[in-house]
Amino acid sequence: MPEKKVRHILGLSGGKDSTALAIFLRDKVPDIEYFFCDTHKELPETYSYLKKLEILLGKKIEMLEADRGFDHWLSVYSGFLPSPQARWCTKQLKILPLEKFIGEDNAVSYIAIRADEDRVGYISTKLNIKPVFPFMREGLVKKDILRIIEESGIGMPAYYSWRSRSGCYFCFFQRKIEWVRLSEIHPELFEKAARYEQEHSDGRKYYWNQEESLRELIERKEQIIADHHRLMNKKKKDLPNRPLIEIFNSELDDESEDFCFVCNL
Ligand code: SF4
Repeated sequence: MPEKKVRHILGLSGGKDSTALAIFLRDKVPDIEYFFCDTHKELPETYSYLKKLEILLGKKIEMLEADRGFDHWLSVYSGFLPSPQARWCTKQLKILPLEKFIGEDNAVSYIAIRADEDRVGYISTKLNIKPVFPFMREGLVKKDILRIIEESGIGMPAYYSWRSRSGCYFCFFQRKIEWVRLSEIHPELFEKAARYEQEHSDGRKYYWNQEESLRELIERKEQIIADHHRLMNKKKKDLPNRPLIEIFNSELDDESEDFCFVCNL
């Protein structure tokens, strides 16, 4: 029996690093398969960016989805919202669809961790999936990734002007200022996120961020904006001659532990 072909796969998050890796590998690994784990709760900017990327790559991005979506799992977990300590969303909506996509095939999984990052990313426990790290191997750091993006002409994802990462609109890894921006840029999505906190007929309360509800957070909007500006001004002093967008994104460093390794590969 002929040996089964090894598959080459690359998971896209809708962010700059995985996009740059797809562009970087486009001509190096011709039979690469691109995929995106779609929770159906992503930002509209992410979907538009993936469409642009698909055109640039000249290849379809496979949209993987769980058999049952977020709302189903929320009711299975009795309305208990996911959190950094209980990331059932990542498991049900990202990891399991990815493992189903690969099945028992042997696959090389290309992971967009840069040489200047100190993290390992999501490594599947399945032995048939072999992770490789092209940016680390080639010593490519953030400025190289920005150059790849710029030279390709695709530009940065539009949400980068107000949010530092891709992911679900209600992602609990968001900073307070990003919730405020969500309420301004996508008020309907903010409203949906707030409703997820309230819809418990038995009166139980679950919040996206542990300290306060989104309704309480937005009442403090002016204070959150003022705190953000103070932090930005301090950063501007610490990082002279850097563009504002970079300063904004540096506020939550790429190397932070505080985000989802699977959702932000
Ligand atoms: S982006 Fe956030 S909310 Fe969405 S699956 Fe990942 S960790 Fe969960």
